Amino acid sequence: MSIDYQALAVPGVQALSPYQPGKPIEELARELGLDPAGIVKLASNENPLGPSQVALEAAQQALSELCRYPDGNGFRLKTRLAARLGVTASQLTLGNGSNDILEVIARCFADAGSEVVYSQYAFAVYPLVTQAIGARGVCVPARDWGHDLEAMAAAVTERTKLIFVANPNNPTGTVHSLSAVEAFLEQVPERVLVVLDEAYCEYLTEGEGDSLQWLTRFPNLIITRTFSKAWGLAALRVGYSISSEAIADILNRVRQPFNVDTIALSAAAAVLDDEDYLQRSRAVNQAGMTQLDQGFEALELTFIPSAGNFIAVDVGEKAGEVYQQLLARGVIVRPIAGYGMPNHLRVSIGLPEENRRLLDALAVALDEVYQGAPGA
Ligand code: PMP
Repeated sequence: MSIDYQALAVPGVQALSPYQPGKPIEELARELGLDPAGIVKLASNENPLGPSQVALEAAQQALSELCRYPDGNGFRLKTRLAARLGVTASQLTLGNGSNDILEVIARCFADAGSEVVYSQYAFAVYPLVTQAIGARGVCVPARDWGHDLEAMAAAVTERTKLIFVANPNNPTGTVHSLSAVEAFLEQVPERVLVVLDEAYCEYLTEGEGDSLQWLTRFPNLIITRTFSKAWGLAALRVGYSISSEAIADILNRVRQPFNVDTIALSAAAAVLDDEDYLQRSRAVNQAGMTQLDQGFEALELTFIPSAGNFIAVDVGEKAGEVYQQLLARGVIVRPIAGYGMPNHLRVSIGLPEENRRLLDALAVALDEVYQGAPGA
């Protein structure tokens, strides 16, 4: 008799759908027989600049240490981060990407009897980690595509252990002002942890770091950040959280002892000195955002104004076909029907020529699918 191993998985895991990443360039090249060099990928909110030279050199140097385990405490990276952020190293927890930290937080603080609150259209990993640990996800309806922070605070019950807030949010790009987040934090009881996911905070014009001031006032706050976006190290998988020392102590007990590898630790520590790279990341993003906003307007498309390094654009009810047409032209974007946004495609900001390729391909794709703009 054969065993049904699916049925052996815990119920939350049985009901999971896997995270859908952007299509890799090599995969599309293989499928369509295209030259990978000619493919434009604007599907995973990556940094279009390529990695920082400073990070590359540090990564190269770290290769000679491949036979040794990494520094499990990430001493050098934590020391540099702590100095930059004005916190202590013992308030930091390093993760294999900030995804890793989000999962560790859920495992540390919630279980089968718990409720975890997040917003409709919020980053897909929140429901995923919640479900995997058997907790109940409470998905609060969005307001104007963004988090309804008042409703999220009102959704807290005595079973609530965690609230995830993405600011800016992926895939919508919506952002809340510091004062709105502060008012929200004031509403949440101290026994409920608030995870403020700031994966895209470096792109904000208000400046990074402002939310850190709340850590002493709101000891239930955990801020998560990443080296994957503005710092351009997505492949290396380095993220971190900033919290009270007590919370960091808990997270550090549960994370894998060597969850960030030596190359990643070295490159991340080094890139923090490359202020020029960060400034260029911001400048390219800002220029690309304007280019895409104007391009979408010219195509009579509506989009959600974004504070991240991507834009969700409404291409009508045949978004799936538009996506396929773009693929056929060597342009990869991200369909977000899985987020409950079947008419939108999410486009990451690229270099000027990549954005132009996308806009040109989109004009042709819309013509193919609708004979013009979707509403025309
Ligand atoms: N939070 C948000 C809102 C994101 O969009 C992402 C990346 N898709 C992450 C966290 C995780 O990024 P990483 O694991 O690369 O740090």
